[in-house]
Amino acid sequence: MMATRFAPSPTGRLHLGHAHSALLGYRRAREAGGRFLLRIEDIDTSRCRPEFTAGILDDLAWLGLDWDGEVRHQSRHMADYRAGLDRLDSLGLLYPCFCTRAQIKAEIERSGAAPHGPEGPHYPATCRSLDPDTRAERIAAGASHALRLDMAKARARVGDLAWNDRRHGKRRAEPKRFGDIVLGRKEIPASYHIAVTLDDARQGVTLVTRGEDLLASTDVHRLLQALFDLPTPDYEHHPLIVDAAGRRLAKREGAPTLASLREGGCSPAEVRAMAGFPG
Ligand code: GLU
Repeated sequence: MMATRFAPSPTGRLHLGHAHSALLGYRRAREAGGRFLLRIEDIDTSRCRPEFTAGILDDLAWLGLDWDGEVRHQSRHMADYRAGLDRLDSLGLLYPCFCTRAQIKAEIERSGAAPHGPEGPHYPATCRSLDPDTRAERIAAGASHALRLDMAKARARVGDLAWNDRRHGKRRAEPKRFGDIVLGRKEIPASYHIAVTLDDARQGVTLVTRGEDLLASTDVHRLLQALFDLPTPDYEHHPLIVDAAGRRLAKREGAPTLASLREGGCSPAEVRAMAGFPG
């Protein structure tokens, strides 16, 4: 069955940009007689707060959106992401990285050139060539480490990949633009990329609707789908809502939240119209 989802991170209250994303996913599901799912992306417990989750559910209901089934809270499924990482590790595609941000920065400056990807300069792969004994010793000694994907090995395993976007057409996946990305973070045994890929499949999402700021990330998700033998959903990356000066609403300092618009006397219909869904 056709299914879309809205997957906010509870690091603050929703803005009009979020409302646009949610309304688009909702419309696509309802016009196809499909399911609209809600997922709270709260793996980063240092930034996410339960009161924001409660606020998000409240804002969505106020906007007039209802969702199917239970809300999925990612923080309750860390074992799933851990199992995904273990699977990639058993394929020899991950390596532990002990570098601090400062060491990575210094290494990039020393080498003079690091390719730049969608998430910043590529990791200079310092830890990729550590020998197994050194790795094991450091881990046994409790050294904190991230888990990085060996991008070249991962791509070699699955070959060329593509995915389809309803607005952007057929896209060739180019995950190598990210370099050896982190899939397991130092402080959390997961990452956005692994959690989103596994959850979209587990929840049976057939159409991912989200902002164009995540267009490049989909190349990584497509690679992970291939490595995990998961189906590839369709995508619809929508343009970001901007203010009169062209600044992104959700990121702008002081951009109005749905809660503040509501307190200011706006009706749900008015806010839906401001978010691009009049009538
Ligand atoms: N949790 C992400 C965010 O709030 C969105 C993830 C997604 O739609 O794939 O930016």
